[in-house]
Amino acid sequence: MFFIFGVGPKTVKTAQGQFKCPVCRSYSGYEIKQQRNYFSLFFIPLIPLSKPKSRQVQCLHCGTFMPTLVLQQAESDVRPNE
Ligand SMILES: [Zn+2]
Repeated sequence: MFFIFGVGPKTVKTAQGQFKCPVCRSYSGYEIKQQRNYFSLFFIPLIPLSKPKSRQVQCLHCGTFMPTLVLQQAESDVRPNE
């Protein structure tokens, strides 16, 4: 009997939605992902070792990771009719 353990990052999807990607300039889906280091046993993450890192938005069209700031910018592009 032996144990396989290690420490590694685990990416968790925290949210998803639709936005206009500033990189590929297409209206597509995004996922907000957050990374955190876990102590894992038999490749199963068990114990979180660090605080969650900053969230990142991934465009599902071109796969680019970008800061969540782009979501606010994308929303500000939509101007109400005056
Ligand atoms: Zn994109």
